[in-house]
Amino acid sequence: MRFAQSICCTTRTRCLVLLYIHTFELYYTPLVLNLTIHSSYNNSKLLPFLHLSLSRIHKRYFTLLSAHFSCPKTNNSVQTPTLLSCSCMNMKMNPFLLLHKLLLFMSLIYVSTCQETLNPHTLPRPLILETRIKQSPLLSSDHDDDVTLHCTSWRFAVESNNLSPWKTIPQECKDYVKDYMSNKGYKSDLERVAKESLLYASGVELKGDGMDAWVFDIDETLLSNLPYYVDHGYGLEVFDSEAFDKWVDNGIAQAIESSLKLYEEVVKFGFKVFLLTGRSEMRRNVTVENLSKIGFHDWDYLILRGAEDHKKTATQFKSEKRRKIMEEGYRIHGNSGDQWSDLLGSSMSARSFKLPNPMYYIA
Ligand SMILES: [Mg+2]
Repeated sequence: MRFAQSICCTTRTRCLVLLYIHTFELYYTPLVLNLTIHSSYNNSKLLPFLHLSLSRIHKRYFTLLSAHFSCPKTNNSVQTPTLLSCSCMNMKMNPFLLLHKLLLFMSLIYVSTCQETLNPHTLPRPLILETRIKQSPLLSSDHDDDVTLHCTSWRFAVESNNLSPWKTIPQECKDYVKDYMSNKGYKSDLERVAKESLLYASGVELKGDGMDAWVFDIDETLLSNLPYYVDHGYGLEVFDSEAFDKWVDNGIAQAIESSLKLYEEVVKFGFKVFLLTGRSEMRRNVTVENLSKIGFHDWDYLILRGAEDHKKTATQFKSEKRRKIMEEGYRIHGNSGDQWSDLLGSSMSARSFKLPNPMYYIA
């Protein structure tokens, strides 16, 4: 509970303007709130009228949690402050809002004009409008900020490989990951990695003997399986290899555009391109078809998991394959992958480029 605003006014006109503005804001505040009006007007008709006006408005469009008021003992010689207090919850907006704002506005005019003195500008005592806002945990911007901060730290830990191993994204981070993957964040991070990779690749002095190599992972590096993960909670569900293989068999994964541009430049520079993926050898054809139809051409080798590789971790499998590539005399200058298991282990490339992926972890 906290005070959102406290208004004190001493002239009728200013009070009206402030009350109107303030009440208007309350209507647009989707929070539980308590409204308290301290009035110096000693009029037994005033409070029932104001209470009725507020109740009518809130009855239809708000849930009136409580409303109570008190009238001072009538004593015209003593201007005892009067209290009206009501609590309400803004449930929804309505096209008739304008009409009800007008009703409330009229009631506020009544507040400001009743029992008025002959002086048309000065109120007998300051009128104070205080609003206490009790923030709902689910709607609280502070709470949202905390979740965002928590999930940003979690994603940083993922991308910096401080969190391994993990099975699913945290429940509370589903919306965060969805937002990151669906909006500019993911795309921007991908573009940054591609930009830095290209800068490095353009500076490599190729010896011209055809032995300078670049290794690319496939899933979430060249191909985006985001539609599959959209249907599976952005990584909230435990990875289902059968369901994922069915998605792969459709051969409809789209290119990660920034990676496609990098790939094309790497090919143009004259690197030997190795595609090294954890996909099964059984999916070679569909993988080739998928890659080809969305613009990936001219790779030199496509290495998939054979039957003998299925019990190996990705780190083991990919390290072994890189070692064989190097044993054949290739110099691996660059390696691009969305998992640290694409990049770490043994026989590592001169430079490794980690693409973002907060949706899943492969050891
Ligand atoms: Mg991958």
